[in-house]
Amino acid sequence: IIKFESISKNFNNTQVLNDVSFEIEEGKFYTLLGPSGCGKTTILKLIAGFETASNGNILFNNKIINKVPANNRKVNTVFQDYALFPHLNVYDNVAFGLKIKKLNKKDIQIKVKEALKLVKLEGYEQRKITEMSGGQKQRVAIARALANEPEIILLDEPLSALDLKLRTEMQYELRELQQRLGITFIFVTHDQEEALAMSDYIFVMKDGKIQQSGTPVDIYDEPVNKFVADFIGESN
Ligand code: ATP
Repeated sequence: IIKFESISKNFNNTQVLNDVSFEIEEGKFYTLLGPSGCGKTTILKLIAGFETASNGNILFNNKIINKVPANNRKVNTVFQDYALFPHLNVYDNVAFGLKIKKLNKKDIQIKVKEALKLVKLEGYEQRKITEMSGGQKQRVAIARALANEPEIILLDEPLSALDLKLRTEMQYELRELQQRLGITFIFVTHDQEEALAMSDYIFVMKDGKIQQSGTPVDIYDEPVNKFVADFIGESN
């Protein structure tokens, strides 16, 4: 569904991605795993259309999309800090993108209801964002992404603000949701245990390059170099 062909990205004189190529298949859970600053978020921004590549091509369903603006891509992003509107209630947060698309009121109501059901927040429509827990806010952010019916959901460290217990619960829920809906998820984390627990495929990154890609079992059993072995073997 997404293909990167020799993508490089420079900010000023610094190369952040160096000749990155990969292919993402539809309906699978992918994780970009690596230490801070290795370029994970930059890859998500290129897929979402928030940044453009310095070199190389990005393909979506076999068409080059290098210059397609963000709002014309069938992609939605869930951010680490949720990026919700604190002054709006749950309903209006989830409905936000649908109103921009100028859907009629009835369709918006149906889509918001369905999305809130998927994240188990039925009945919370009128609740203010400031009156919700971290896990609930994260669910609202996921519902907002789902309501737009994207083909791909990008998740940038969406669980890092949560405590350990909630985090483990949400890992399970996200994985279950992805499998149930069959949407492509691309998840960013620096936590190897999270990556191993959740993913169909993991791309291990360092310094703007993919060091290894494979299933959790491949990567755990046969790391290709010392960096991957050390990174996967670390415990938090
Ligand atoms: P983290 O886990 O800390 O979020 P990351 O792997 O997601 O890290 P990126 O956010 O992709 O890393 O950043 C990769 C590098 O690019 C970093 O060194 C960062 O400082 C740099 N960078 C990112 N965005 C910009 C920008 N707009 N201008 C200049 N440099 C940038």
